[in-house]
Amino acid sequence: MTAVLAAPPEAPKAPEYNLTGIDFRRPMPRPKVRGIVIDFHCHLLGRRHAEAWFGAADHYGIDRFVSMTPLEEVVAIQRDYPGRVQFIAVPRWQDRSDRWVDEWLIRLEAFYNLGSRIVKFHAAPGTMVMRGHRLDSPVYKPLFREAVARKMAIMTHIGDPDLWYAGKYADASKFGTRDEHYQMWESLLTEYSNVPWVGAHLGGNPENLARLQNVLDRFPNLMLDCSATRWMGREISARRDQAREFFIRNQDRILFGSDQVSGDDRGFDFLASRWWVHRKLWETAYIGQTPILDPDLPPDRQPALRGLALPDEVLQKLYCDNAAKFLQGVGVAFDGCG
Ligand SMILES: [Zn+2]
Repeated sequence: MTAVLAAPPEAPKAPEYNLTGIDFRRPMPRPKVRGIVIDFHCHLLGRRHAEAWFGAADHYGIDRFVSMTPLEEVVAIQRDYPGRVQFIAVPRWQDRSDRWVDEWLIRLEAFYNLGSRIVKFHAAPGTMVMRGHRLDSPVYKPLFREAVARKMAIMTHIGDPDLWYAGKYADASKFGTRDEHYQMWESLLTEYSNVPWVGAHLGGNPENLARLQNVLDRFPNLMLDCSATRWMGREISARRDQAREFFIRNQDRILFGSDQVSGDDRGFDFLASRWWVHRKLWETAYIGQTPILDPDLPPDRQPALRGLALPDEVLQKLYCDNAAKFLQGVGVAFDGCG
């Protein structure tokens, strides 16, 4: 008889949202904010994700949400969590038909009737290639016209991480260059200079704070959100002192956002990891390993997290006042604001 040696059991792999073995349920004080904390950029994708979502959010002191939720899920969330979420009008993401603009116009009206006052245009390099149109293409005109006529605000996603321009977008003949994408954005900002506008993910270029300063100085209608956990964690930390100056200087122009995305397989710990990193990054002087795997860098070059320890009055604006003011500008308010 031959003895079969069983392979030794493999050590369980740390999940990519908790490489450092953090107990995300440990009590954590709320952000030092008078009033409520607003996450201005997130994706609560379904009612069925709400228990895990609000459970983690409550633990981390995040009270209200401006979310890109599919239209079909809005009513159930409004019904069961009244007053906690404002919805951003988005298209049906999977729609690849040639009627997508018409379909989006119908959805835009439906979102508006449910209280939405912001429209999101996703114009990252990969998305523009997928749609076959740049954001300044005439194809988008009816949507811009509709948003303006309804006095809605606009949120755009322009650009993507530098690492992606060096990697998957390296073929500039297909994807265009970053400079081309920002010329496009600035021409739209010029055309719609009276429309309240949010540039998602620090205008899509946290690697170049000088560019962002220039755009902010020239377009007073523009706000930036600081969402995207791994991207911000990596690039804000990489230029910590400069970023801190930038946030203090532009403290009236930046909205806190996480870019949290819910999911059927995303429980308390996954969701907690995103808010944990954001809070460390903005509120504390934490220097150390991030619990979240950064897939854009090799395992031996994972970025350290270096917190900005922003002053209390800046956090007050970032977490609450700026969002409340922006929303007020388009005629909506969260209870407990201001
Ligand atoms: Zn997002």
